[in-house]
Amino acid sequence: MLVTNKLSPNYSKKLRKKNKIRFIIIHYTGMQSEIESIKRLKNLKSKVSCHYLINRKGIIMRMVDEKYEAWHAGKSKWKNLVNLNKYSIGIELVNKGHKIRYENFSNTQIKSLIKLCSKLKRKYKIKKENFLGHSDIAPLRKVDPGEKFPWKQLSKFNIGVWYKTRKLEIFKKTRDENNAKIFFKNLRKIGYRYFNISKRKRSDARIIKAFKSRYLQEDLSIKIDQKTLKISHFLANC
Ligand SMILES: [Zn+2]
Repeated sequence: MLVTNKLSPNYSKKLRKKNKIRFIIIHYTGMQSEIESIKRLKNLKSKVSCHYLINRKGIIMRMVDEKYEAWHAGKSKWKNLVNLNKYSIGIELVNKGHKIRYENFSNTQIKSLIKLCSKLKRKYKIKKENFLGHSDIAPLRKVDPGEKFPWKQLSKFNIGVWYKTRKLEIFKKTRDENNAKIFFKNLRKIGYRYFNISKRKRSDARIIKAFKSRYLQEDLSIKIDQKTLKISHFLANC
């Protein structure tokens, strides 16, 4: 696995213990080009970075040593953790993103990502459920890596969780008026935050979208239908 160095000055200088690293967070760069992305990630003023950047040709660039906290996640929550930078390794994939022109991730890019994730999984004993997207941990602010990111494919390598279609049928149909509450209860159990289980808010739409862009990529509406609900049941109970 070829890794080249493009070191960024944007990281916390205090060393962290190996056992602190429990999550891998996946991002896309969301910029016009790879060169611009690297520039930004290396610019002291931008105050952003990541541990690894993977370009469209699948070349992996190390930007911050894993021993230090890189600044990729920003304000974020998952389960009872706040500020996931402390506990994670951040991986950026070069992709123009939704604001410019969201594109498919390239095959070589995903191949390199799988290799890198497998290596980190072994090294830090990272659980498969702890591979998350930026939108999972900051759903009100972030949409990356988005609906083109191949979570299902990655789950075959035990990177991230996925559901078993044939097991969805064991969950009974619920009355439609209860769907939202049950759905959000499940999401809370899975680890999502930034919502209230019993009080619906406008920002809930972003949470639903974050969930669907990962698990129901063919339907990005904010409707919580039976399939959406059943997937959330499965993931909350697996
Ligand atoms: Zn991101």
